[in-house]
Amino acid sequence: LGSTARRAIRELPDELISQIAAGEVVERPASVVRELVDNALDAGAAQIQLKLLAGGIRSLIVEDDGCGIPDSELPLAIKRHATSKIGSLDDLEAVATMGFRGEALAAVSSVAELSLVSRFEGAAHAWRLDARSGELSPAARARGTSVEVRELFFNTPARRKFLKTEGTELGHCLEALRRHALARPDVGFAVWHEGKLVDQWRAASLAQRISEVLNEDFIGQSREVNGGAGPMRIHGRVGLPEAARSRADMQYVYVNGRYVRDKLIAHAIRSAFDDVLHGNRQPSYVLFIDIAPELVDVNVHPTKIEVRFRDGREIHQQVRRAVVAALALSRTDDAAGTDG
Ligand code: ADP
Ligand code: MG
Repeated sequence: LGSTARRAIRELPDELISQIAAGEVVERPASVVRELVDNALDAGAAQIQLKLLAGGIRSLIVEDDGCGIPDSELPLAIKRHATSKIGSLDDLEAVATMGFRGEALAAVSSVAELSLVSRFEGAAHAWRLDARSGELSPAARARGTSVEVRELFFNTPARRKFLKTEGTELGHCLEALRRHALARPDVGFAVWHEGKLVDQWRAASLAQRISEVLNEDFIGQSREVNGGAGPMRIHGRVGLPEAARSRADMQYVYVNGRYVRDKLIAHAIRSAFDDVLHGNRQPSYVLFIDIAPELVDVNVHPTKIEVRFRDGREIHQQVRRAVVAALALSRTDDAAGTDG
């Protein structure tokens, strides 16, 4: 940049700061699904509904029956760095909620039209907040919250251009919902697209949820994982070698209830299959790793899809051991079956 082209340093306007920050959190409609469903779960919802138009680009609504937001706090809910979930560094290090950064609603409202309708428990009626105008008005609904996001990226055309077809965006939204649904079989989910019911999962056991969400045959072709030691517990299900797939499209790992992508864990699981899985065959699994919060840092990335472990080697060992044990058990089963 030549000296003539240099501009003076200045503070960016608030709106632009939010739009820049939104770039990290909101990539496509599925990112909005992830953030809004996180919020519904944090609110203690038992039932969550997702309603989409045009793959979630034109309209994306998440409704829950959680605790709701008091009308006095509705304007704060959409402010940047405003959260009810942590208040101190100690809270952050022990965080048990999906959210804590207080930026999702602010981010979404800077790149889309956002409105909230919420009825706090004990309130006489619901309130509606329109994010753009800041206007609060009385509304009607049962306890809980509905968040509506319309025209994603209407004001950031460069971003909007990166969106794929409605069908592709819908697929990503459904995948985001599946990730939540697998982690929370105790919660009911339903999803509509263009007014038509696409999927519905009632509260169920983990095995039942997995077979509804992923594949009816998976339970029969998988074994239960039950491992971990000390401050770590590992559970879930892992597919038998014969259920391996050519694509890595059924691999779900959760750390403290949060879906993550982690090379170390993926490697540990794959290494448990070393002797029995050849070539490019991909194992399938739904694995939950619960670990003392002080042993894992979830504040690595705005989307929280990455985590950092204090003791990666220990995690690797325990995960590998738990999966090996699950697979070995199944081999014993098979042997017993042949003998009998
Ligand atoms: P975070 O989840 O990190 O706190 P968000 O921007 O996602 O930040 O939400 C801001 C706040 O709004 C939350 O801390 C919560 O108090 C409130 N909130 C958002 N969604 C809901 C919901 N569905 N039900 C109840 N409260 C909600
Ligand atoms: Mg949140």
